Amino acid sequence: PVVTRFAPSPTGYLHIGGARTALFNWLYARHHGGKYLVRIEDTDRARSTEPAIAAIFDGLDWLGLGGDEEPVFQFARSARHAEVAHQLLEAGHAYRCYLTPEELAARREKAQAERKPFRIDSEWRDTSPDQWPAEQPYVVRIKAPKTGEVTIADAVQGNVTVANAELDDFILLRSDGTPTYMLAVVVDDHDMGVTHVIRGDDHLNNAFRQLVIIRGMGWPEPTYGHVPLIHGNDGAKLSKRHGALGVDAYRDELGVLPEALFNYLLRLGWGHGDKEEFTREEAVALFDIADVNKGASRFDMKKLLNMNGHYIRAADDARLATLAAARIGPEADEALLTQAMPVLKTRARDMIELADGAMFLFRQRPLPLDEKAAALLDAEARTRLGAIHERFAAETDWTTEALEANLKAYAEELGAGLGKLAQPLRAALTGQATSPGIFDVLVLLGREESLARIADQAG
Ligand code: GLU
Repeated sequence: PVVTRFAPSPTGYLHIGGARTALFNWLYARHHGGKYLVRIEDTDRARSTEPAIAAIFDGLDWLGLGGDEEPVFQFARSARHAEVAHQLLEAGHAYRCYLTPEELAARREKAQAERKPFRIDSEWRDTSPDQWPAEQPYVVRIKAPKTGEVTIADAVQGNVTVANAELDDFILLRSDGTPTYMLAVVVDDHDMGVTHVIRGDDHLNNAFRQLVIIRGMGWPEPTYGHVPLIHGNDGAKLSKRHGALGVDAYRDELGVLPEALFNYLLRLGWGHGDKEEFTREEAVALFDIADVNKGASRFDMKKLLNMNGHYIRAADDARLATLAAARIGPEADEALLTQAMPVLKTRARDMIELADGAMFLFRQRPLPLDEKAAALLDAEARTRLGAIHERFAAETDWTTEALEANLKAYAEELGAGLGKLAQPLRAALTGQATSPGIFDVLVLLGREESLARIADQAG
């Protein structure tokens, strides 16, 4: 059975690259009826923080990408990692290296002076336990093969080959006995039963090192899938300037819906013909790691927000009302918002625009006028608002059709275009120069509130 995992380091927020890695792991596991696990790689004690861990779980939950089991915390497993290092020592696949930091620095300098690449070439590699000094500090190094080459059949990159001469005898246990990241990842993946390691291609080089440990232990080798990184629109490495924000910022600061981000991340580096939108079920049915692009994908904020607009229009009105109400504040009336949603949501690209566009419903009279609205309310307009007030007050049928007919009749009487009347009316009713259709606004506000707002501005 397929087991995948998402293994973030909680040294920062859950960024979109990480979220996409989680998504691909989740999809691959779901597609194969397998398991998807989450592991928090919190071994860097100085840089791992509780808020970052909380933000990762929060972001995953929001996207519906929480793990199928309780998360594994890597740091808590240090003793197990050390145990494996000792097994490698006993089997002769690792050795105690007593080279001091000073000795290593001197060798590094020498290699540099001779313009040669620096490789650990420890004389301790071929010593046996009886030659190991008892009291001196040491690190445990893997005995990496020195000749030959290793090929990884990567599910995304294809065959990738590295000469073993490129691999160092890297450290498994530091001199204080703590395990290195390289060791911890391998042990955890093995113990968690991970069959497929899908992650960013910045880890491709690590895979060759990790395989040395796996082979030393005689463990089954996972299938690797190294996914190209996400670049900015200009092709440069994704940075804050391109919108490389935390997942929480997409939700809170940009007003993106989780299904929109889900679909956008899915399409970022993966596709199925020219189909643009996928339900979760469709994505699960169609996703294959082999179809992930080999080249870096480009992040396009505009495209994400356009896609978000689509998802807003497709979303349930009561749900959108709840989300909008949370942004508007305690004055928001969810029932009214739900009723207004069909007209409100046709315009918005994100939840911020949607909430802003709904604000007029809840403003206290007399309404503040924005600049454009104020400019619409000249003396003539205010006089006409007086007449409109009179006509609407006499209107018995408070529906969009009746109100439209009523205003049209007045426009004809004046020989003016409907817009000449509708714009000042909009300014009076909403305090803005743009809003949903003016007759929808009248119905949503209701007779009493509409008449009062018109009267506030009538001259
Ligand atoms: N913790 C690593 C990271 O955040 C991922 C390690 C892995 O997937 O093997 O980049």
